[in-house]
Amino acid sequence: MIRPLAETSKKEAMQRTSDEALNCRRCGLCDGRRNPVMGEGNPDAKVVFVGEAPGRREDETGRPFMGAAGQLLERLLTSVGLRREDVYIANIVKCRPPNNRPPTPREIEACSQHLERQLEIIGPRVIAPMGNTAIGWMTNRFGLKSVRISVMHGHEIEAEAPWGRVVLFPLYHPAAALYTKELEKIMEKDFAALGRLLDGIDEPTAAAP
Ligand code: URA
Repeated sequence: MIRPLAETSKKEAMQRTSDEALNCRRCGLCDGRRNPVMGEGNPDAKVVFVGEAPGRREDETGRPFMGAAGQLLERLLTSVGLRREDVYIANIVKCRPPNNRPPTPREIEACSQHLERQLEIIGPRVIAPMGNTAIGWMTNRFGLKSVRISVMHGHEIEAEAPWGRVVLFPLYHPAAALYTKELEKIMEKDFAALGRLLDGIDEPTAAAP
């Protein structure tokens, strides 16, 4: 079992993953992007939210979920007493795909080592993949049966990660809920359930220095 790192080494390790992504040439997406978008938030977070890939605003700023979907995500976090800085927010793919097309399986495979490293550093108790691309990565990564998002969302799935037990908590992508009021209502309920789950679990334990 990998024990999560102590705080200072976490910051350094996160910085190293960002430097690696800056120089990464494992797929062609680096040719068209302005900034890789590694993710941001609390490296000691209990929960890591995983989206699909950066869009235009994220590519410009180097920060995840900066547009309308990000505003909805922030509102949903606030509804359960959380702020962006309490959680960690990342994407499957760190560089913007041209015209916001979904990343290909080859790009996901090439990029997922960055996410894997981030997760090992944080050692979250809960991973919340948002939308079909992130849920597809999750089912693959944890050897789960692939089931439709309409069935999976809002359910707790126990899994074993290199750093210990995790609960996987699939969610709809906030961008999908932007134009569908019913989906927004479903997301509100799912976030309420996620909030209750998080209230019941402890912070990840930092390893002794
Ligand atoms: N959609 C995503 O999946 N990620 C972002 O960072 C922004 C929009």
